[in-house]
Amino acid sequence: MKMEFSDRALRIKASEIRELLKLTVQPEIISFAGGLPAAELFPVKQIADVTCEVILKEGHCALQYSPTEGLSRLRQLILEQRLAKVGIHANLEEILITSGSQQALDFAGKMFINEGDPIVVESPTYLGALNAFLAYDPRYVEIPLEEDGMDLDLLEEALSSGLRPKFIYTIPDYQNPSGKTMSMAKRRRLLALANTYDLLIMEDSPYAELAFDGEQLQPLKALDTEGRVIYLGTYSKTFAPGLRIGWIVAHPTLVNKFIQIKQGADLQTSSLDQKIAAAYMETYDLNEHIDLIKKVYAQRRDVMFDAMRKHFHPEITFTESQGGLFTWVKVREDLDTKAILQEALKENVAFVPGESFFAVNKHKNFMRLNYSCMPEEKIITGIERLAQVLNKYYSD
Ligand code: PMP
Repeated sequence: MKMEFSDRALRIKASEIRELLKLTVQPEIISFAGGLPAAELFPVKQIADVTCEVILKEGHCALQYSPTEGLSRLRQLILEQRLAKVGIHANLEEILITSGSQQALDFAGKMFINEGDPIVVESPTYLGALNAFLAYDPRYVEIPLEEDGMDLDLLEEALSSGLRPKFIYTIPDYQNPSGKTMSMAKRRRLLALANTYDLLIMEDSPYAELAFDGEQLQPLKALDTEGRVIYLGTYSKTFAPGLRIGWIVAHPTLVNKFIQIKQGADLQTSSLDQKIAAAYMETYDLNEHIDLIKKVYAQRRDVMFDAMRKHFHPEITFTESQGGLFTWVKVREDLDTKAILQEALKENVAFVPGESFFAVNKHKNFMRLNYSCMPEEKIITGIERLAQVLNKYYSD
């Protein structure tokens, strides 16, 4: 049978790393490779109760089609409970519900990128965003991350030399994969640059509420006076990823365009899932749940970092993440973490090699480790095993 895929489909490839990581589901492997929230902490009983109520009391509505932009009740609750709290004061015309923020990334690609259009991404950045945008064939312009966020001197230099990206994609808080956070000073400067050069910023913010130490910094969207920040939120890391509830907050003209695109993609996000999320938010205090997961994740992070300080060769460095799910380990420049993963799998421990988080200049000497979804004893054993594998490369 003839199967003639489009150029777009041909650009989308299975990742070699994903194939390798398929091995990590075996129970004897301790995997730091995932990016999952801890399933044992999901508020299953409470969700069961509200789901039952939703079906019994509003079943006809919950099982029916609903508006593309999402239920007003849920949008209102998100505006009040999640966004106002961090200084984003928007109204109903400025928010739509998406099926997770992954869908918003794909929509943004569809909405803005013509073949060869430049877009600015952090180096490294979220692999899922790179893949989503890639379908639309952009030209990636990478701006390296410093400890406190994007290197804005470099960005400014590129802009003053004439670069006009369709948008700047950033994950300012506890970034995936690096665990780094953009400082307040850089947030202000990035926005000032966007104002000066008339640019859009896409602020992807799944981790901001998982602030363990210190306070949550104000999102770029809260500082945006000109409607140039497209803010992406999600319940995947703070509540339950299986519900597929995300949201976009943006200028009403952009929201309208997103709604038109969503109509063509899936008509709407599941009415039932939206009702469940709304009923949970009305019945329980989601902040309490977030406080609980933050406590557990912070403890797991501490255990991982202590074990790394104790067992890793001192030349191996990592991000001292203040929140979120990940840390980013840097090994010697001449090492390739993809080859190291093969060794690590023999010792029954896994991680994600850093290479695929780079759009263009694929550095090989990084790895991403996740600390949220494993009990503490396993984290310690896993780090001991990983240290054994890594330290071999450092003995002379
Ligand atoms: N953006 C970032 C930075 C992520 O890490 C993820 C999930 N790992 C997503 C978007 C997509 O999340 P979801 O679609 O589940 O909301």
